Amino acid sequence: MTQEPLPFLPFVRPEIDEATIEGVVEVLRSGWITTGPQNQAFEKALSEFCGGRPVRTFNSGTATLEIGLRIAGVGPGDEVITSPASWVATANVILEVGATPVFVDIDPLTRNLDLNLLEQAITPRTKAIIPVYLAGLPVDMDRLYDIARAHRLRVVEDAAQALGSRWRGERIGKLGDIVSFSFHANKNLTTIEGGALVLNNEDEAELARKYRLQGVTRTGYDGMDCDLLGGKYNLTDVAARVGLGQLAQLERFLQKRKTLARAYFEGFATSAARELGVELPVADFENSNWHMFQIVLPLEKLAIDRAGFMQKLHDTYHIGTGVHYPAIHLFTLYRARGFAAGMFPHAERFGASTLTLPLFTLMTERDVARVTAAVNEICEHYGK
Ligand SMILES: *Cc1c(COP(=O)(O)O)cnc(C)c1O
Repeated sequence: MTQEPLPFLPFVRPEIDEATIEGVVEVLRSGWITTGPQNQAFEKALSEFCGGRPVRTFNSGTATLEIGLRIAGVGPGDEVITSPASWVATANVILEVGATPVFVDIDPLTRNLDLNLLEQAITPRTKAIIPVYLAGLPVDMDRLYDIARAHRLRVVEDAAQALGSRWRGERIGKLGDIVSFSFHANKNLTTIEGGALVLNNEDEAELARKYRLQGVTRTGYDGMDCDLLGGKYNLTDVAARVGLGQLAQLERFLQKRKTLARAYFEGFATSAARELGVELPVADFENSNWHMFQIVLPLEKLAIDRAGFMQKLHDTYHIGTGVHYPAIHLFTLYRARGFAAGMFPHAERFGASTLTLPLFTLMTERDVARVTAAVNEICEHYGK
C-alpha cells in the first residue's frame, strides 16, 4: 500500500473564525465600509489592551513606524538607531522621513539589538531609537529606557511582531514611549493589512489622526482646514472588524502559540539537529508571544545550503519555511549609502542562516513533531 503524501504545512496561515466572517459581511452590508464605527471600537479595545493609552489605527505597520517617527519629531539631519535584523520597513521609514539610519549589531542569542553596543552608537545627532522585538521577544526594556532617558532620546518601538508580548508581567504597548504594531496577514493578530500606534497623550493622538488623513480637521457642518502635510493611511471598517474578531481570540491564540513553541523545544531537546549545532530561540515563556520559531542552521557543518534545506523540507516533507530576515544593511539601497559586509557580523550570520519553521494557531503538536523529525532527518543526512 502506498501512503498518501502528508498535506502541505505552510509556515504561517491566518485563523479567521466564522463569527468574524459574519461580522465582516454585516459591515459590508451596513453602508459604511471605510473608516468609521468599527475603527472607533477597535481603537477603544486596543487602548484598553494597552492600559488605557491613546491608540490610533493605520493601514499598515509601516505607516505607523513612519508617522511614529514624525510625531517624535524625527526629520532631516537626525540619526535613528535600529537593528539590521528586521523587516526592511524598519529602516526604510527612517529614510522616508529624511533621517539617517544607524545600525547596531544584534545579540546572537536574543537576535535583538545588542544593548551593550547601543551607547557607543549615540552621537549628538541621534534623535531616536527603533528597537525591534524580533519574533515577539522584547529587549531588556528597563535597560533600553534607562539609556534613552540618559541621552534624551525618543523611542519608537517596532512592536510589529510583539502584540501580546510582555515585560515584567505588563503587556508591550502599555509601557514605553511610542509603540508601533502591525496587523499584516502573518502577524499574531491580523486585519489583513493594518497597524496601530500607541501614543503618550491626546496631543500626539491628534497628530496621528492628522498624519493619517491629509492633515485635515473638520469643524461644524462645513468647516475644513489642513494645517500639516498628512498622507492617506486610514484603515477600512472592514479591516477593523476583522481586527475586533481577532482581538476577542488573542488570548487563545497566544496560549496555542506557547504550546506549539514548547513542543518545538521538546522535539529538539535531544536531537540530531542540536548535536550538529542548530541554534534555537531563547526559551522565554514569560515575555515572548511566540510570533515565530526561528532556528539558525550551522551551515559550515552541513553539506547543503539553506535554500537546499528549504527545498528539501518543501519537496520531500511538504513543509513550508521562511527567512526573517536577511540583514538590511546588505541590501543595494543601503550598500549605496556606505554599508558593507562585515559591519554587523551577528546580523549577517543570522540573516544568512536563519530559518523560520511553521508556527500558527491552526497547527497541532503533531504538526510540530513532523517538522522537528524532518529537520532532524535532514541534519542526519547532510551533517558533516
Ligand atoms: C510586519 C513588520 C513591519 C511592517 O508592518 P506592515 O504592516 O507589513 O507594514 C515592520 N517591522 C517588523 C519587524 C515587521 O515584522
